[in-house]
Amino acid sequence: MKDTRNLPKDVLEKWDDQYVWHPFTPHSVYRDEHPLTVVAGEGHYLIDADGERYLDAVGSIWCNLFGHRRDELDQAVREQLDHIAHSTLLGNTNDRPVILAKRLLEWAPDNLGKVFYSDNGSTSVEIAMKMALQFWQQQGDESQRRRTKFMGLANAYSGDTIGAVSIGGIDLFHSRFGPMIFETVRGPSPVTYHRPEGMSRRETEEKFVADFDKVIDEYGEELAAVVIEPGMQGAGGMVTYPDGFLKHAARKIRDAGSLLIVDEVAMGMGRSGQMFACQREGVDPDFLCVAKGLTGGYVPVAATLTTNRIYEAFLGPPEEGRTFFHGHTYTGNALGCAAGLATLDIFENENILDEVSRKESLLASRLEPLWDHPHVGDIRQYGLASGVELMADPERREAFDGARRIGMQVCTAARDKGVFLRPLGDVIVFMPPLTITDDEIDHLVAAVEYGIDKVLQ
Ligand code: PMP
Repeated sequence: MKDTRNLPKDVLEKWDDQYVWHPFTPHSVYRDEHPLTVVAGEGHYLIDADGERYLDAVGSIWCNLFGHRRDELDQAVREQLDHIAHSTLLGNTNDRPVILAKRLLEWAPDNLGKVFYSDNGSTSVEIAMKMALQFWQQQGDESQRRRTKFMGLANAYSGDTIGAVSIGGIDLFHSRFGPMIFETVRGPSPVTYHRPEGMSRRETEEKFVADFDKVIDEYGEELAAVVIEPGMQGAGGMVTYPDGFLKHAARKIRDAGSLLIVDEVAMGMGRSGQMFACQREGVDPDFLCVAKGLTGGYVPVAATLTTNRIYEAFLGPPEEGRTFFHGHTYTGNALGCAAGLATLDIFENENILDEVSRKESLLASRLEPLWDHPHVGDIRQYGLASGVELMADPERREAFDGARRIGMQVCTAARDKGVFLRPLGDVIVFMPPLTITDDEIDHLVAAVEYGIDKVLQ
């Protein structure tokens, strides 16, 4: 094998510019914003080609739970290589995905009984939507077969495949694809910070819930399912919901006879202090979508969990056509499922969830002083996930001109302090590994403060 390790950073950068098209990246400014060229990782740190180390404060886009090169995960993947890397789940099985399904269901809400694998968050949601539609199509009662619509909230994000884009509600990401996306029923936005003049946060929250109810009242009988990101809308800017919203929504959706899909891609796998955020709210969903952290951030494996009620509607002689015709080549990949099993072992062995709850409070207390910063407009947190929204003038609710890319500048500045962050517009995102230490939390918050001051003095 050709040795391509230890290439000089400038060579890698040149080839990167020449050959690679990056996701969610405006290439005209990419190089000027000093992207990392990662060649290794160790614990909670990324190691750049020039040897510099950076705290991975967004867990490599929200999937890394326990740091890089975790012994147990490395070993699980290496050990699996001595057996098999991958075999198909289409009409066959493999021991790793079988065992992972059983163990995942032990952690999931009790009403869930089946696991359908795929390989990323978008597909895990899209699969839930397709299952819901087909479930209703296969009902004897004609009025149920009319349930063909999907409802998503404004400002929602469930990924980039067309079903996920259709249910999403972020114009910046989704409007370009208008001609290819299908119509969905749009619920209200839970954003309360950017609210109409003269309305309190409380009133905005109440209006959000009332508007949600109104949409369900209007479309309830036509809805195949409603998709909600529990706990927090992630990509929409780390936006929290009014207390008790998910529980309320679940009841409302059930009363309307529809189905609830919880998109746990960002908040599942321990981020909330429970394995799944819907458990923190005491909600039993009809579908639970999980990806990102499912393998500790090692291998792309996703899963759509559902109930036996849904599954049973797909049974019958093959010629009746009730089969769920969906599957990907790498569905249930054995290397990934081995990493998934090791991930669950770590949750079991290390009291991760209690520690997340403790660190949720610690992060909140460390972020508290930032409220006094003249450019911090809002701080939102759910579990070990937080967003700090920067504003030109918080008092007058004036945002920065987007062209200034202030959020990105602040994150780039935080690199001076050895911290890697990626913002959402002018929202600085905190999604650290769940095992981040108390000292690293202090360091992270200090680096963000430094970055804000450096850019906005
Ligand atoms: N749902 C949510 C809530 C997400 O945050 C994301 C990704 N950030 C997705 C779905 C899509 O996941 P993926 O990028 O793995 O397709």
